Amino acid sequence: MGVGERKGSVLEDLIQRAGGCAVVDGGFATQLEKHGATINDPLWSALCLIKDPHLIKRVHMEYLEAGADVLITSSYQATLPGFLSKGLSMEEAESLLEKSVKLAIEARDKFWDSLKEVPGHSYNRALVAASIGSYGAYLADGSEYSGCYGPDTSLEKLKDFHRRRLQVLVNAGADLLAFETIPNKLEAQACAELLEEENIKIPSWICFSSVDGENAPSGESFEDCLDILNKSNKIDAIGINCAPPHFIESLIGKFKRLTSKAIVVYPNSGEVWDGRAKRWLPSKCFGDDKFELFAARWRDAGAQLIGGCCRTTPSTVQAISNALRGLTEANLDSYPL
Ligand SMILES: [Zn+2]
Repeated sequence: MGVGERKGSVLEDLIQRAGGCAVVDGGFATQLEKHGATINDPLWSALCLIKDPHLIKRVHMEYLEAGADVLITSSYQATLPGFLSKGLSMEEAESLLEKSVKLAIEARDKFWDSLKEVPGHSYNRALVAASIGSYGAYLADGSEYSGCYGPDTSLEKLKDFHRRRLQVLVNAGADLLAFETIPNKLEAQACAELLEEENIKIPSWICFSSVDGENAPSGESFEDCLDILNKSNKIDAIGINCAPPHFIESLIGKFKRLTSKAIVVYPNSGEVWDGRAKRWLPSKCFGDDKFELFAARWRDAGAQLIGGCCRTTPSTVQAISNALRGLTEANLDSYPL
């Protein structure tokens, strides 16, 4: 596994408790919208931290009930410069980031407490992963899917962009860090170096997006991108998020050959996001039944953390959870199907 006995163990423990493959939660914005939140804003679901924190907690609870072993916080597009541009003070901005972690922790603890009354339940105590969206997610110009950050973007600039948010999220008590939709090698390197420079003790995963099913969105090979990450003992898992589900199986195979770290995948529903027009383009949906089928295949291909990204819902995560728990030999007796 390459993570040794150090801080990675909380994630490794979870994977083990889950029978070798743990369930990550699903799409956040979709579910918030369903409950009436308005998220038509560059700050996306982060706006809810200000307006509707109770809805955020509600969505976390729904994913826990669906069987999520890992909750991802609502901080994907919550950035300090983003909040400052809304007229918030630095203090207020930092407290909103903290709030994203606290809301997830509160939901997790509440759910876990409620299970005391349920004899023989088969849930695991979930971990809270602080979401760290890529620089492109902050730019909100679709560059998290193109990897084109322009000539002015340097390694130092990316590290500085991520640094303070990362510190705040760690200090808020997150169990792990989830870097998401990283589109190029430079940002992967920035994240890896930052974890080292800040001497982060909690586990991290780094997920790339992919638009062609073979390379990072920038066109750089995953060989090159993973080479950098493999050298870091601060990174516990590597994977793909927000790519269409039909890319996932072959990417797991590729990543298996390129790294000995755990592999995490949480694809979107297969609908296509037009980053510039900021809308979902209609396409044939990858339904929950397919997620159930494919989750087992992704696990068999070597993924150890499986969930959903944009446009997936608690019922998608329930399908994944059913598949993983139902088909995990060791757990067949302990999980009610
Ligand atoms: Zn997504």
